[in-house]
Amino acid sequence: MRVCVFCGASDGGDPKYLETARDLGRLLAENGITVVYGGASVGLMGAVADAALTAGGAVIGVIPRNLVDRELAHKGLSEQHVVDNMHDRKAKMAELSDAFVALPGGIGTLEELFEVWTWAYLGIHTKPLGVINLDGFYQPLITMADHMVGEGFLKPATRALLRVAAKPADVLDVIALAND
Ligand code: AMP
Repeated sequence: MRVCVFCGASDGGDPKYLETARDLGRLLAENGITVVYGGASVGLMGAVADAALTAGGAVIGVIPRNLVDRELAHKGLSEQHVVDNMHDRKAKMAELSDAFVALPGGIGTLEELFEVWTWAYLGIHTKPLGVINLDGFYQPLITMADHMVGEGFLKPATRALLRVAAKPADVLDVIALAND
């Protein structure tokens, strides 16, 4: 199984973000799950990849040519795909993965998450997706989604496609539940 991890190219202000990224990378590797991610060596992205590799796991990166220098493409991955642009990056990550998980991140992370969420809603794929809601990081997003349901812009079933895990250890259950 391959799980795509979306997350910040930044570290975040609190060490708990890097620690959680490492926990997720290690957990996936220890469960024989290949990590697919954006191929960078910086921020939470690099932390997930390094932890998975250190734990003996396989890690596949997908990075656009113009970000190879800016995001310091990771040199030690099992596979690194250099693609032409952001669209190809997201398409390739989606194609390679069986499920999607977002750690905390910025607007790039949200963009990636929203794309796979909307693709699920449009029936383009049936792969599970979720967020790691570390200390309520994603609470404003969850509240917004519930608000859209309340206002009639989002169907409850579409809202429910977004699974919420409190911590990395819950991710495998969340993915398994989503497969039911
Ligand atoms: P951020 O969450 O903003 O730190 O970004 C996380 C990752 O998302 C980084 O690798 C960004 O390069 C990437 N990213 C930002 N915008 C896009 C996009 N439109 N398509 C694909 N990846 C993106």
